[in-house]
Amino acid sequence: MLILMKSNASAEQLEAVASRVRELGLTPHPLQSSSRSVVGVTGERNGLDPAVFSALAGVSKVVRLSVPFKLAAREFHEDDTVVDVNGVTIGAGQKLCVMAGPCSFESEEQVLTIARTVKQAGATVMRGGLFKPRTSPFSFQGLHEDGVRIMQRAREETGLRFVTEALDERSLELVIEHADMIQIGARNMQNFTLLKKAGQSKKPVLLKRGMSATLEEWLTAADYVLSEGNPQVVLCERGIRTFATHTRNTLDLSVVPAVKELSHLPIIVDPSHGTGYRNYVPPMALAAVAAGADGIMVEVHNDPAQAKSDGAQSLFIEQFQQMMKQIPAVAEAVGRTL
Ligand code: PEP
Ligand code: MN
Repeated sequence: MLILMKSNASAEQLEAVASRVRELGLTPHPLQSSSRSVVGVTGERNGLDPAVFSALAGVSKVVRLSVPFKLAAREFHEDDTVVDVNGVTIGAGQKLCVMAGPCSFESEEQVLTIARTVKQAGATVMRGGLFKPRTSPFSFQGLHEDGVRIMQRAREETGLRFVTEALDERSLELVIEHADMIQIGARNMQNFTLLKKAGQSKKPVLLKRGMSATLEEWLTAADYVLSEGNPQVVLCERGIRTFATHTRNTLDLSVVPAVKELSHLPIIVDPSHGTGYRNYVPPMALAAVAAGADGIMVEVHNDPAQAKSDGAQSLFIEQFQQMMKQIPAVAEAVGRTL
Protein backbone atom coordinates (compact mmCIF):
# COMPACT_ATOMS: atom_id res chain seq x y z
CA MET A 1 0.00 0.00 0.00
CA LEU A 2 1.19 3.53 -0.76
CA ILE A 3 0.04 6.54 1.26
CA LEU A 4 0.41 9.77 -0.71
CA MET A 5 0.65 12.86 1.49
CA LYS A 6 -0.69 16.29 0.48
CA SER A 7 1.99 18.61 -0.92
CA ASN A 8 1.60 20.89 2.12
CA ALA A 9 1.58 18.07 4.70
CA SER A 10 3.71 18.84 7.73
CA ALA A 11 6.51 16.70 9.16
CA GLU A 12 4.27 16.00 12.22
CA GLN A 13 1.47 14.70 9.97
CA LEU A 14 3.95 12.46 8.18
CA GLU A 15 5.19 11.11 11.51
CA ALA A 16 1.60 10.54 12.71
CA VAL A 17 0.93 8.43 9.62
CA ALA A 18 4.12 6.42 10.12
CA SER A 19 3.27 5.78 13.75
CA ARG A 20 -0.28 4.63 12.84
CA VAL A 21 1.33 2.18 10.40
CA ARG A 22 3.57 0.86 13.20
CA GLU A 23 0.60 0.59 15.59
CA LEU A 24 -0.99 -1.79 13.12
CA GLY A 25 2.08 -4.02 13.23
CA LEU A 26 3.24 -2.91 9.76
CA THR A 27 6.39 -1.20 8.54
CA PRO A 28 6.35 2.38 7.16
CA HIS A 29 8.82 3.36 4.45
CA PRO A 30 8.80 7.17 4.08
CA LEU A 31 9.91 8.32 0.61
CA GLN A 32 10.36 11.88 -0.55
CA SER A 33 9.43 12.78 -4.12
CA SER A 34 10.16 16.28 -5.47
CA SER A 35 6.64 17.51 -4.73
CA ARG A 36 5.42 15.48 -1.76
CA SER A 37 6.02 12.70 0.73
CA VAL A 38 4.87 9.15 0.19
CA VAL A 39 4.76 6.38 2.78
CA GLY A 40 5.14 2.83 1.53
CA VAL A 41 3.57 0.18 3.79
CA THR A 42 4.82 -3.41 3.94
CA GLY A 43 3.85 -6.41 6.04
CA GLU A 44 0.09 -6.43 5.32
CA ARG A 45 -1.50 -9.84 5.05
CA ASN A 46 -5.25 -9.88 5.23
CA GLY A 47 -6.69 -7.18 3.02
CA LEU A 48 -5.92 -4.03 5.01
CA ASP A 49 -8.66 -1.42 4.49
CA PRO A 50 -7.19 1.76 2.90
CA ALA A 51 -9.72 3.76 4.94
CA VAL A 52 -7.60 3.34 8.08
CA PHE A 53 -5.16 5.84 6.57
CA SER A 54 -7.25 7.98 4.25
CA ALA A 55 -8.87 9.85 7.15
CA LEU A 56 -5.57 10.90 8.76
CA ALA A 57 -4.56 14.56 8.55
CA GLY A 58 -2.28 15.43 5.64
CA VAL A 59 -3.15 12.29 3.63
CA SER A 60 -4.15 12.91 0.03
CA LYS A 61 -4.71 9.41 -1.31
CA VAL A 62 -4.15 5.76 -0.42
CA VAL A 63 -3.24 3.38 -3.24
CA ARG A 64 -3.58 -0.36 -2.79
CA LEU A 65 -0.84 -2.36 -4.50
CA SER A 66 -2.05 -5.88 -3.78
CA VAL A 67 -5.41 -7.42 -4.64
CA PRO A 68 -8.18 -7.37 -2.01
CA PHE A 69 -9.12 -11.00 -2.63
CA LYS A 70 -6.90 -13.64 -1.13
CA LEU A 71 -8.16 -17.21 -1.45
CA ALA A 72 -9.30 -16.71 -5.05
CA ALA A 73 -5.97 -15.10 -6.01
CA ARG A 74 -3.44 -16.88 -8.16
CA GLU A 75 -0.82 -14.92 -6.25
CA PHE A 76 -1.37 -17.30 -3.32
CA HIS A 77 -2.37 -20.45 -5.23
CA GLU A 78 -0.50 -20.98 -8.45
CA ASP A 79 -2.09 -24.14 -9.79
CA ASP A 80 -5.43 -24.08 -11.56
CA THR A 81 -8.29 -25.37 -9.44
CA VAL A 82 -10.25 -28.25 -10.91
CA VAL A 83 -13.85 -28.45 -9.74
CA ASP A 84 -15.51 -31.85 -9.63
CA VAL A 85 -19.24 -31.91 -10.27
CA ASN A 86 -19.94 -35.52 -9.38
CA GLY A 87 -17.33 -36.80 -11.81
CA VAL A 88 -17.59 -34.00 -14.40
CA THR A 89 -14.46 -31.88 -14.01
CA ILE A 90 -14.21 -28.19 -14.83
CA GLY A 91 -10.95 -26.26 -15.15
CA ALA A 92 -7.27 -26.82 -15.89
CA GLY A 93 -7.28 -29.78 -18.32
CA GLN A 94 -8.27 -29.71 -21.91
CA LYS A 95 -11.86 -30.75 -21.68
CA LEU A 96 -14.55 -28.10 -21.95
CA CYS A 97 -17.74 -28.38 -19.92
CA VAL A 98 -21.04 -27.63 -21.64
CA MET A 99 -23.99 -26.82 -19.36
CA ALA A 100 -27.28 -26.55 -21.20
CA GLY A 101 -30.98 -26.51 -20.47
CA PRO A 102 -33.98 -24.25 -20.19
CA CYS A 103 -34.07 -21.06 -18.18
CA SER A 104 -36.76 -22.61 -15.96
CA PHE A 105 -37.97 -26.11 -15.40
CA GLU A 106 -41.60 -26.00 -16.48
CA SER A 107 -42.90 -29.57 -16.72
CA GLU A 108 -41.70 -33.14 -16.71
CA GLU A 109 -42.15 -33.44 -20.45
CA GLN A 110 -40.19 -30.25 -21.13
CA VAL A 111 -37.30 -31.21 -18.84
CA LEU A 112 -37.03 -34.77 -20.15
CA THR A 113 -37.21 -33.72 -23.81
CA ILE A 114 -34.48 -31.10 -23.37
CA ALA A 115 -32.36 -33.37 -21.15
CA ARG A 116 -32.33 -36.16 -23.72
CA THR A 117 -31.39 -33.87 -26.59
CA VAL A 118 -28.68 -31.83 -24.83
CA LYS A 119 -27.14 -35.04 -23.52
CA GLN A 120 -27.11 -36.53 -27.00
CA ALA A 121 -25.44 -33.43 -28.41
CA GLY A 122 -22.62 -33.62 -25.83
CA ALA A 123 -23.63 -31.56 -22.77
CA THR A 124 -22.60 -33.09 -19.45
CA VAL A 125 -24.39 -30.75 -17.05
CA MET A 126 -28.02 -29.66 -17.30
CA ARG A 127 -29.11 -26.25 -16.12
CA GLY A 128 -32.59 -25.08 -15.21
CA GLY A 129 -34.15 -22.97 -12.51
CA LEU A 130 -36.50 -24.27 -9.85
CA PHE A 131 -36.41 -20.94 -8.04
CA LYS A 132 -36.40 -18.02 -10.45
CA PRO A 133 -35.26 -14.51 -9.54
CA ARG A 134 -37.73 -12.61 -11.76
CA THR A 135 -37.75 -8.86 -12.21
CA SER A 136 -41.52 -8.78 -11.69
CA PRO A 137 -43.34 -10.63 -8.88
CA PHE A 138 -46.11 -11.40 -11.41
CA SER A 139 -43.79 -13.41 -13.68
CA PHE A 140 -43.36 -17.19 -13.38
CA GLN A 141 -41.35 -17.87 -10.22
CA GLY A 142 -40.42 -21.50 -10.85
CA LEU A 143 -41.77 -24.92 -9.88
CA HIS A 144 -39.99 -24.84 -6.51
CA GLU A 145 -40.23 -28.16 -4.61
CA ASP A 146 -42.50 -29.61 -7.27
CA GLY A 147 -39.63 -29.59 -9.75
CA VAL A 148 -37.28 -31.68 -7.62
CA ARG A 149 -38.86 -34.99 -8.60
CA ILE A 150 -38.65 -34.01 -12.28
CA MET A 151 -34.97 -33.14 -11.90
CA GLN A 152 -34.31 -36.49 -10.22
CA ARG A 153 -36.12 -38.37 -12.93
CA ALA A 154 -34.10 -36.60 -15.67
CA ARG A 155 -30.87 -37.27 -13.81
CA GLU A 156 -31.64 -40.96 -13.40
CA GLU A 157 -32.56 -41.36 -17.03
CA THR A 158 -29.73 -39.38 -18.64
CA GLY A 159 -26.88 -39.41 -16.12
CA LEU A 160 -26.54 -35.64 -16.59
CA ARG A 161 -25.39 -33.60 -13.57
CA PHE A 162 -27.73 -30.78 -12.51
CA VAL A 163 -27.00 -27.18 -11.59
CA THR A 164 -29.81 -25.02 -10.27
CA GLU A 165 -30.06 -21.69 -8.54
CA ALA A 166 -30.46 -21.14 -4.80
CA LEU A 167 -32.18 -17.85 -4.09
CA ASP A 168 -32.15 -17.87 -0.33
CA GLU A 169 -31.32 -20.13 2.59
CA ARG A 170 -34.45 -22.23 2.25
CA SER A 171 -33.94 -22.96 -1.45
CA LEU A 172 -30.23 -23.49 -0.79
CA GLU A 173 -31.03 -26.41 1.49
CA LEU A 174 -33.12 -28.01 -1.22
CA VAL A 175 -30.47 -27.41 -3.88
CA ILE A 176 -27.74 -28.87 -1.66
CA GLU A 177 -29.85 -31.94 -1.03
CA HIS A 178 -30.96 -32.63 -4.59
CA ALA A 179 -28.68 -30.96 -7.18
CA ASP A 180 -25.03 -31.57 -8.11
CA MET A 181 -24.01 -27.92 -8.14
CA ILE A 182 -25.33 -24.76 -6.48
CA GLN A 183 -25.88 -21.76 -8.75
CA ILE A 184 -25.60 -18.35 -7.12
CA GLY A 185 -27.16 -15.89 -9.53
CA ALA A 186 -26.02 -12.45 -10.61
CA ARG A 187 -28.50 -10.76 -8.26
CA ASN A 188 -27.09 -12.64 -5.28
CA MET A 189 -23.39 -12.34 -6.04
CA GLN A 190 -22.94 -10.13 -3.01
CA ASN A 191 -25.47 -11.86 -0.75
CA PHE A 192 -22.75 -12.62 1.74
CA THR A 193 -24.97 -14.66 4.07
CA LEU A 194 -25.93 -16.94 1.19
CA LEU A 195 -22.33 -17.17 -0.02
CA LYS A 196 -21.18 -18.22 3.44
CA LYS A 197 -23.91 -20.86 3.68
CA ALA A 198 -22.92 -22.21 0.26
CA GLY A 199 -19.33 -22.24 1.49
CA GLN A 200 -20.34 -24.42 4.43
CA SER A 201 -21.67 -27.10 2.10
CA LYS A 202 -19.58 -29.57 0.16
CA LYS A 203 -21.36 -28.95 -3.14
CA PRO A 204 -19.55 -27.13 -5.96
CA VAL A 205 -20.74 -23.55 -6.45
CA LEU A 206 -21.32 -21.75 -9.75
CA LEU A 207 -20.88 -18.07 -8.92
CA LYS A 208 -22.33 -15.80 -11.58
CA ARG A 209 -20.95 -12.32 -11.96
CA GLY A 210 -23.14 -9.54 -10.61
CA MET A 211 -24.52 -7.35 -13.37
CA SER A 212 -22.49 -4.39 -12.26
CA ALA A 213 -19.67 -6.13 -10.44
CA THR A 214 -16.02 -5.46 -11.14
CA LEU A 215 -13.66 -8.40 -11.43
CA GLU A 216 -12.26 -7.48 -8.02
CA GLU A 217 -15.69 -7.53 -6.38
CA TRP A 218 -16.50 -10.85 -8.04
CA LEU A 219 -13.32 -12.57 -6.88
CA THR A 220 -13.73 -11.10 -3.41
CA ALA A 221 -17.26 -12.56 -3.34
CA ALA A 222 -15.72 -15.94 -4.27
CA ASP A 223 -13.52 -15.54 -1.18
CA TYR A 224 -16.68 -15.75 0.96
CA VAL A 225 -17.36 -19.28 -0.30
CA LEU A 226 -13.71 -20.34 -0.20
CA SER A 227 -13.13 -18.95 3.29
CA GLU A 228 -15.86 -21.21 4.71
CA GLY A 229 -13.87 -24.25 3.58
CA ASN A 230 -15.47 -25.02 0.22
CA PRO A 231 -12.74 -24.86 -2.47
CA GLN A 232 -15.11 -25.80 -5.32
CA VAL A 233 -16.04 -22.53 -7.03
CA VAL A 234 -16.58 -22.02 -10.76
CA LEU A 235 -17.03 -18.43 -11.97
CA CYS A 236 -19.58 -17.62 -14.67
CA GLU A 237 -19.45 -14.47 -16.81
CA ARG A 238 -23.04 -13.60 -17.80
CA GLY A 239 -22.79 -10.07 -19.12
CA ILE A 240 -22.75 -6.72 -17.38
CA ARG A 241 -24.84 -3.55 -17.63
CA THR A 242 -23.45 -0.97 -20.04
CA PHE A 243 -24.88 1.83 -22.19
CA ALA A 244 -25.27 -0.58 -25.13
CA THR A 245 -28.86 -1.45 -26.00
CA HIS A 246 -28.40 -3.89 -28.90
CA THR A 247 -28.00 -6.73 -26.41
CA ARG A 248 -29.62 -7.49 -23.04
CA ASN A 249 -26.23 -7.25 -21.30
CA THR A 250 -22.71 -6.73 -22.58
CA LEU A 251 -20.86 -10.03 -22.53
CA ASP A 252 -17.44 -9.18 -21.16
CA LEU A 253 -15.23 -11.81 -22.77
CA SER A 254 -12.07 -9.92 -21.88
CA VAL A 255 -12.75 -10.95 -18.30
CA VAL A 256 -11.82 -14.54 -19.22
CA PRO A 257 -8.07 -13.95 -19.73
CA ALA A 258 -8.15 -11.47 -16.84
CA VAL A 259 -9.61 -14.13 -14.52
CA LYS A 260 -7.03 -16.62 -15.75
CA GLU A 261 -4.27 -14.17 -14.87
CA LEU A 262 -5.56 -13.15 -11.45
CA SER A 263 -7.24 -16.32 -10.21
CA HIS A 264 -6.83 -20.09 -10.17
CA LEU A 265 -10.60 -20.65 -10.31
CA PRO A 266 -12.24 -22.04 -13.47
CA ILE A 267 -14.44 -19.71 -15.49
CA ILE A 268 -17.31 -20.52 -17.83
CA VAL A 269 -19.33 -18.12 -19.98
CA ASP A 270 -23.12 -17.73 -20.32
CA PRO A 271 -23.78 -16.05 -23.68
CA SER A 272 -27.56 -16.50 -23.27
CA HIS A 273 -27.98 -13.94 -20.48
CA GLY A 274 -24.92 -12.20 -21.88
CA THR A 275 -26.64 -11.30 -25.15
CA GLY A 276 -30.37 -11.91 -24.69
CA TYR A 277 -30.91 -13.01 -28.31
CA ARG A 278 -30.63 -16.60 -29.48
CA ASN A 279 -28.94 -15.76 -32.76
CA TYR A 280 -26.08 -14.10 -30.93
CA VAL A 281 -25.54 -17.05 -28.60
CA PRO A 282 -23.63 -19.52 -30.84
CA PRO A 283 -21.06 -16.96 -32.10
CA MET A 284 -20.41 -15.72 -28.57
CA ALA A 285 -20.18 -19.29 -27.24
CA LEU A 286 -17.49 -20.00 -29.85
CA ALA A 287 -15.75 -16.74 -28.94
CA ALA A 288 -15.81 -17.74 -25.26
CA VAL A 289 -14.06 -21.00 -26.11
CA ALA A 290 -11.50 -19.10 -28.18
CA ALA A 291 -10.94 -16.70 -25.26
CA GLY A 292 -9.95 -19.60 -23.01
CA ALA A 293 -13.12 -20.28 -21.02
CA ASP A 294 -13.35 -23.68 -19.31
CA GLY A 295 -16.88 -24.15 -20.54
CA ILE A 296 -20.16 -22.53 -21.50
CA MET A 297 -23.66 -22.38 -20.10
CA VAL A 298 -26.48 -21.92 -22.60
CA GLU A 299 -30.26 -21.86 -22.50
CA VAL A 300 -32.02 -24.34 -24.78
CA HIS A 301 -35.76 -24.94 -25.11
CA ASN A 302 -37.87 -27.42 -27.03
CA ASP A 303 -40.47 -24.70 -27.68
CA PRO A 304 -38.93 -21.28 -26.98
CA ALA A 305 -42.07 -19.41 -28.08
CA GLN A 306 -43.95 -20.98 -25.17
CA ALA A 307 -41.09 -20.72 -22.62
CA LYS A 308 -42.15 -19.33 -19.24
CA SER A 309 -38.91 -17.33 -19.02
CA ASP A 310 -36.16 -16.15 -21.37
CA GLY A 311 -37.65 -17.62 -24.57
CA ALA A 312 -36.00 -15.02 -26.82
CA GLN A 313 -32.52 -16.05 -25.77
CA SER A 314 -33.19 -19.80 -25.69
CA LEU A 315 -31.68 -21.79 -28.54
CA PHE A 316 -33.88 -24.07 -30.59
CA ILE A 317 -32.73 -27.65 -30.16
CA GLU A 318 -31.42 -27.75 -33.75
CA GLN A 319 -29.46 -24.56 -33.11
CA PHE A 320 -27.85 -26.12 -30.05
CA GLN A 321 -26.96 -29.25 -32.00
CA GLN A 322 -25.44 -27.15 -34.77
CA MET A 323 -23.41 -25.08 -32.27
CA MET A 324 -22.09 -28.25 -30.63
CA LYS A 325 -20.80 -29.36 -34.01
CA GLN A 326 -18.93 -26.09 -34.43
CA ILE A 327 -17.24 -26.06 -31.03
CA PRO A 328 -14.59 -28.79 -31.58
CA ALA A 329 -12.74 -26.88 -34.33
CA VAL A 330 -12.45 -23.74 -32.19
CA ALA A 331 -11.58 -25.80 -29.13
CA GLU A 332 -8.85 -27.58 -31.01
CA ALA A 333 -7.33 -24.29 -32.16
CA VAL A 334 -6.80 -23.31 -28.50
CA GLY A 335 -5.69 -26.72 -27.30
CA ARG A 336 -8.98 -27.89 -25.81
CA THR A 337 -11.48 -30.62 -26.54
CA LEU A 338 -15.20 -30.90 -26.08
C1 PEP B 1 -30.22 -17.92 -14.93
O1 PEP B 1 -29.15 -18.51 -15.13
O2 PEP B 1 -31.32 -18.38 -15.24
C2 PEP B 1 -30.18 -16.56 -14.34
C3 PEP B 1 -31.25 -16.05 -13.74
O3 PEP B 1 -29.01 -15.96 -14.54
P1 PEP B 1 -28.39 -14.60 -13.95
O4 PEP B 1 -28.32 -14.80 -12.47
O5 PEP B 1 -27.06 -14.56 -14.61
O6 PEP B 1 -29.31 -13.48 -14.36
MN1 MN C 1 -32.63 -17.30 -17.84
